[in-house]
Amino acid sequence: MISDTQARQHGDSNSGPRHKIPIGISSCLLGERVRFDGGHKRNSYILDTLGQYFAYRAYCPEMAIGLGVPRETIRLVDVDGAIRVRGSKNESLDVSEQLEQAAHSQAHWHREICGYIVKKDSPSCGMERVKVYTAGHVERRGSGAYTRVLMDNFPDLPVEEEGRLGDAALRENFVQRVFIFRRWREMLGAEFGWRELTEFHARHKYILYSHDQELTRELGRELADAHKQPLLDYAPKYLSSLMKILKITATRKNHVNTLQHIRGYLKTELDGEDKRELSESIENYRLGLLPLIVPITLLRHHFRRNPDPYIEQSWYLRPHPDELMLLNTL
Ligand code: SF4
Repeated sequence: MISDTQARQHGDSNSGPRHKIPIGISSCLLGERVRFDGGHKRNSYILDTLGQYFAYRAYCPEMAIGLGVPRETIRLVDVDGAIRVRGSKNESLDVSEQLEQAAHSQAHWHREICGYIVKKDSPSCGMERVKVYTAGHVERRGSGAYTRVLMDNFPDLPVEEEGRLGDAALRENFVQRVFIFRRWREMLGAEFGWRELTEFHARHKYILYSHDQELTRELGRELADAHKQPLLDYAPKYLSSLMKILKITATRKNHVNTLQHIRGYLKTELDGEDKRELSESIENYRLGLLPLIVPITLLRHHFRRNPDPYIEQSWYLRPHPDELMLLNTL
């Protein structure tokens, strides 16, 4: 749960569970019995933990195209370079176009969501490394037919597989992108001008730094020059660059650089002992002896006592709710 105080500190009154973030999801992950054999793949982390912040919209493309339960399994097949979705036993069953059409037909709610969690390995829902069968061998190089169209239609939308959410860095990356995407949406829905966009960038700059410093600097220069073009032409380009940077996994080295940058704002405020303690916690994080939450908590503590208007606005020290404990495992 997020306290109202925390929400106010962020200038974001919608952070709490009462204002859940809309997220698309493969129905079987919520426990719906829609798999080919009448089973499900309920995922308790997605449902119980992320579900405190995410409002799920479930969709099963195979049910939607009328395959029913139980049904014959389908798979991706390479037919002369074209990937088709066919029955595993009955090759005359080909549902490629229906699954693609299912994704197009759901675009009206896809454009309203802030992320999508899909079932790995599925020829319909899988995001990547789905098995593709060719004469004589199998390669993990496909995407599910429904999810491929979803990602083509909305390339900036955060999409992740439930299997990859088991990895601490990928999990944090996805949740971070979702929260940023939601903030982007909120900004567009409110008064939106160059001032708001510049402020949005400034508030996310240190998060971006932790992913890629050079690309962040490039985006900053691009934004400074962008005023020559209409805002509504530039905004989608900005979003694409932003989401590309955020997709790059943040590294320990980049986090250390970012923490050191932020520490610089306390140069004159801290006494020798506080400085030593802070440097030690950053160094121990660098060595992998402490998780990221430790230097972050120490920085928050010092900025509470020595407020700085720029850092107070930055999302880096509070990228998502503490209760998700995503920084405790980085
Ligand atoms: S993976 Fe997708 S198509 Fe398969 S059961 Fe789950 S929601 Fe339906």
